[in-house]
Amino acid sequence: MSSPPLASGPEGPHALRPLLETVLDALTEGRQARGGPLPAGGPQAVAARVRATVGDALPQKGDPDAVRHLVRMLAEGAADPADPLCAAHLHCPPLAVATAADLAASALNPSLDSWDQAPAASELEALVTDALAAEIYAGTRTSDRARPTVDTSTSAPEANEPHTSTALVTTGGTESNQLALLLAREAHSGARLVCGANAHHSLTRAAWLLGLPEPVVVPAPAGTLDPAALDEALTELPGPRGSLVVAATAGTTDAGLIDPLTDIADLCAAHGARLHIDAAYGGGLLFSARHRHRLHGIERAHTVTLDLHKLGWQPAAAGLLAVRDPHDLHALHHHADYLNADDDTQAGLPDLLGRSLRTTRRPDILKIAVTLKTLGRDGLGTLVDQVCAHAQELARLIQAHPGFELYDPPTISTVLFRPAEASDDTVAAVRRTLLTEGRAVLGRAVLDGQLWLKATLLNPHTRPGDLAALLKLVEGHTPR
Ligand SMILES: *Cc1c(COP(=O)(O)O)cnc(C)c1O
Repeated sequence: MSSPPLASGPEGPHALRPLLETVLDALTEGRQARGGPLPAGGPQAVAARVRATVGDALPQKGDPDAVRHLVRMLAEGAADPADPLCAAHLHCPPLAVATAADLAASALNPSLDSWDQAPAASELEALVTDALAAEIYAGTRTSDRARPTVDTSTSAPEANEPHTSTALVTTGGTESNQLALLLAREAHSGARLVCGANAHHSLTRAAWLLGLPEPVVVPAPAGTLDPAALDEALTELPGPRGSLVVAATAGTTDAGLIDPLTDIADLCAAHGARLHIDAAYGGGLLFSARHRHRLHGIERAHTVTLDLHKLGWQPAAAGLLAVRDPHDLHALHHHADYLNADDDTQAGLPDLLGRSLRTTRRPDILKIAVTLKTLGRDGLGTLVDQVCAHAQELARLIQAHPGFELYDPPTISTVLFRPAEASDDTVAAVRRTLLTEGRAVLGRAVLDGQLWLKATLLNPHTRPGDLAALLKLVEGHTPR
């Protein structure tokens, strides 16, 4: 090969156009070869195909057709969230417009660790993250707000004063939850996490990573954090109240349940505890006029985790941590002379290093900004309404079927069910058979001491016939 072309610069578009054709063709060929929601044959068959296609991963001499072969191989071996029968996880089919914007992000390759690597991207990030934070901390809109001037560091978030909430861009809920606990630790030495047994595993892991004391895990037998049990825990815990950080969940990963947010916020206020809400899944309900009320109380949290690669239809990664009081972010301030020298900052170059623990950082905000602007709140809200309606429809089909048991009516877009009177081993085997045959991708969750099949519906294009087909597959694979 002569010197390989670059993605940006004058030759960029010219070089990319035929490559895009190749990639799009390879995606189509791979999908057709797969023929279902995921490849048949299980891990061994997939591994064999990958190894056969790749061969020597670092050959001495390159192959100009590698992009076609490898993309085709990846598509053939993909679990495709755009297939209605791929419904295990909070793994969404990305919007075409967001994916196209992500291509531009890759081509331009801005890096959000200094202004001189990302002049427009850094301003776009500031603008869009403020707007998303305002969506949570309703009452003030970005356009009404100036950059932080007043010192609000000592006031409780309950105080009804103008604020300048913002959000940090993260790689997802895991990093957002870590940052939330870090900010809590820096706000109150001796910070200790109090969370429900239903909380995401990344919270207790973050407590471990940050060297916090052993978390207090409050039982959540009904799948949501029980306010009476939380009250008891907060009353009995020794030490200064302000050091406790309660993590509530808006959209549990297993069942899509929402903790009683206002009750929890009241308890945190009464006990002087800090509140973090993990809305990695449920945060998307904010876009829906119909479902937004379910998040009532979210605005009382000090920090909120959002994941737009779930109910936001973004390619990963598209995480956010909304922070009510921007003074909390002082804890992240960091100095590296080559990125934010004092004289540069004084001369007006934005200091970006304090917006993340990462250094080089992709402009994930571009695809998010393009999506918000292309669809608007109405367009996103419609997608949310559609997947929630699909969950209701699937629950109705399950209830109407004598061979199935429904866990509970769905709260967001997760439906848990099991073949009636099947053992846990049978439920597990049905799921694994569907997986290895490449017919359907369902998740699993243990609730009420039983194993359930989990359908997490995130595909707005799913039709009622797809849901019926999913149930038929489960039925057909359940031994009688
Ligand atoms: C998905 C999820 C997370 C983790 O998010 P990642 O983007 O996978 O890091 C955290 N909390 C909840 C409630 C989630 O559903």
